[in-house]
Amino acid sequence: MKYIILDLEWDGAYYPKIGRFINQILQIGAVKLDDGFNIIDTFDVTVKSSFTKRVSKRFAELTGITKEKMLAGISLDKAFEAYNEWVGHDAVTMTWSNSDIYTVLENEKNLLSGIKLRIEKYLDLQKYIQGEMRQRGIECTSQISLLNAANVFEIDIDEAELHNAKTDSTVCAMLLKKCYNAERLSAMIIDTSAPDFFARCAFKPYVIKSIDDVNLDKKQLIFACKKCGEQLALKGEWHYRNGALYAELYCDACGEKYFANIRARKLFDTVKIKRKLYVKRTEKSKSDDMSDMSAKV
Ligand SMILES: [Zn+2]
Repeated sequence: MKYIILDLEWDGAYYPKIGRFINQILQIGAVKLDDGFNIIDTFDVTVKSSFTKRVSKRFAELTGITKEKMLAGISLDKAFEAYNEWVGHDAVTMTWSNSDIYTVLENEKNLLSGIKLRIEKYLDLQKYIQGEMRQRGIECTSQISLLNAANVFEIDIDEAELHNAKTDSTVCAMLLKKCYNAERLSAMIIDTSAPDFFARCAFKPYVIKSIDDVNLDKKQLIFACKKCGEQLALKGEWHYRNGALYAELYCDACGEKYFANIRARKLFDTVKIKRKLYVKRTEKSKSDDMSDMSAKV
């Protein structure tokens, strides 16, 4: 198995043809690794923009790619061609978070006519490393930066050297070597020819905040009385607060009153739902339940 760690540098620029800003890829850097995650080859190409002669000040400062360096680069389609030839076949491509993939798709759609960057099998390295940190009992944020991950695993890097495609990839390779687990790594490799792979990359999960959301199955709003089993009626309306939908419900048959809450999160192909129903306490039942309540706190 061959591994590629791909790292792109891009700059936001206004693209008149589509009337908005686009993150245009201006550098493609990658390293090729053998089975032991040793670097056996490197790739480093600067891309010349097809529609602007400038780079942003921030981009130049971060990457060291000045306007002059960008203008001396090669076109994006030539860069993709050269990259595809360098990659060959049967490689697992990794990037630090899938935002690189998202940018590749945006560039292919808006700046190129047909050529695609070759990514056959894919692994989100940020997600993998975060999983390995949790395996080791290390707390981590959901989108840890490469620098922070390197610090956690005591990889000595010069912060100033980062944000250069090849350097970033080299740091990724070092991280991988430190946190390699064959089973867990291969479980996270995705075949990009699978249906919806790229749509999945572009999808952002979200919390459902309204009962009118098309992705919320209305059956989820129905609760049964815990006492008599009858369907509960709604008192007032459903409202959203702190990540959940809330409503007051009551039982017409036996008079019991309830609070219900639903936490619903839309993922790419499913909705994750947690439903809870609480008996609304009267003054008497509140004192009865005191021990239960303090246990919850
Ligand atoms: Zn009832």
